[in-house]
Amino acid sequence: MIEISVDAAACNGCGLCVKDCPMRVYELKDGVSVPVRPENCMGCLSCHEICPAQALEHRGVYPSKRHYIDIRVCEMINRVL
Ligand code: SF4
Ligand code: SF4
Repeated sequence: MIEISVDAAACNGCGLCVKDCPMRVYELKDGVSVPVRPENCMGCLSCHEICPAQALEHRGVYPSKRHYIDIRVCEMINRVL
């Protein structure tokens, strides 16, 4: 099971992870990113790479090529919906 944590002291509220996550895991609350739908996370680590504050941590993620294929499929689906 994937566990997501946000370092609230480090998060600058830029919202990049909110926009970037294809599974809509995050929302901004009071200027801080909150993983409101952690059960949706597929472990692509895209948010981890994009966060300028290095405020995100994922436990239980084992990246593979499959994850990167999945993220592209999700992006295409989100564009159509
Ligand atoms: S990308 Fe990083 S700094 Fe920006 S809102 Fe998300 S957790 Fe915070
Ligand atoms: S690892 Fe991927 S699916 Fe999980 S929260 Fe980050 S961007 Fe979203």
